[in-house]
Amino acid sequence: MGFSKPRTKFYNCGTVYKQAAADLLRFRVHRGNEVADFEAHAAEHFGCRYAIATPLARMGIYLCLRYFIREGQSVLQSPYTLAEVINIAVCAGGKPLFSDVDPQNGHLDPQKLNYTDNTGAMIVTHLHGIPAEMDELLDFSQQHNIPVIEDAAQSAGTKYRGRFVGTLGDAGVLSFGMHKQLNAVYGGMVLTDNGDLAKFIQAELLKFRDIPIATLLDKLAYLLRLHALSTNPTFSWLMFPLLRYGLLNDVDWINNIVAVQPDIKLKHDIDDWYKHRFSPCQARMLPSQLRRLASDDAVRFTNARQYFVGLSQIKGLTLPRIPEHAQPTFAYFPIQVAEPQQLLRWLSFYGQDVVTQHFSNCADLECFVPFRSECPTAAKVASSLMLLPTYPSYSKQQIERNIQIIRGYFEAGQPAFDAKLSLPI
Ligand SMILES: *Cc1c(COP(=O)(O)O)cnc(C)c1O
Repeated sequence: MGFSKPRTKFYNCGTVYKQAAADLLRFRVHRGNEVADFEAHAAEHFGCRYAIATPLARMGIYLCLRYFIREGQSVLQSPYTLAEVINIAVCAGGKPLFSDVDPQNGHLDPQKLNYTDNTGAMIVTHLHGIPAEMDELLDFSQQHNIPVIEDAAQSAGTKYRGRFVGTLGDAGVLSFGMHKQLNAVYGGMVLTDNGDLAKFIQAELLKFRDIPIATLLDKLAYLLRLHALSTNPTFSWLMFPLLRYGLLNDVDWINNIVAVQPDIKLKHDIDDWYKHRFSPCQARMLPSQLRRLASDDAVRFTNARQYFVGLSQIKGLTLPRIPEHAQPTFAYFPIQVAEPQQLLRWLSFYGQDVVTQHFSNCADLECFVPFRSECPTAAKVASSLMLLPTYPSYSKQQIERNIQIIRGYFEAGQPAFDAKLSLPI
């Protein structure tokens, strides 16, 4: 039997460890001009005037909002995103104004945009490496004269009308978090042509500290642990059988190992550890990764096409929709089914490790009651979305296996696994 392939990939870990080790040993984590060098390089690569490295993508959004909105103004945004992106708007003095999403991709639906006289900005999220409907969304923003901040955290390299997403609105952010394709352990970047905004962000960043080495080591150790567990043979021999057993038998402590258990609460102040500068050590991790990005994107695109062909015309299965003018990069291949937990079990039973999307419909969460809004489509997307792996080292055979197993699930009439049935491993 071959190895099971993990649901997710930590990109470019070798580069990350090598750079971190070299810099730690030479005591030069915070020394060097590479942050400015990489910023110049990224601005040229992505095609904008300014690129500014930030502690995290969410801090990039935060700083943009601080610049664009006045205290108390509302921020038009999708409820189908990371809860911290909602909190960041609150921390910046804004009031989240949720608008519902489109049923296929979970992007802001241009037909359902909310707006008040007191709306100060709009955040557009590009999910899974698929661009949102930018033509319509930008039309709306121009009509109402509100700035657009693009959240391209999952979509570095994705294009729309030949331009990189993140450079179509007034500002855009990328993430260099460990779960993203450009991995600097953590970190982000604001892309913009607005010199005033760039100056504002740079001035704010000067108030932040260098990250303590102990904190950096903590993050590295966390990445190392996740990476080791999701690498073969450890994954196939230890992690996958354990996860599979937990999933098929409803063993909470096992399921909690991988449950992205965001302890979601409303925040009015940004976490202290968000307030540090992106380090030269991290900037040194990125140029080689940026050079590889396009070829990785191309492989993911081919993998997505294989899913498209193999999974077309299954009744009850929703495939992503590619907007006109889009060049998607498919961080994952998102599909929607009525009972994702059941399909997850079915796949796991047959040896395939897959994950559901962990974003909630934030418009419906208890902690965000002050901003509650009816977003039925976001609720539906949040309860039905699964992410099939597309990463470059995921083989054609594994994709074909996923396709066949999913087809089998639908041919069998989407059966439920009895949790009490002890299924053999
Ligand atoms: C990962 C992610 C973020 C946050 O990125 P950080 O760098 O961790 O702040 C924001 N939005 C979306 C859609 C993401 O996937």
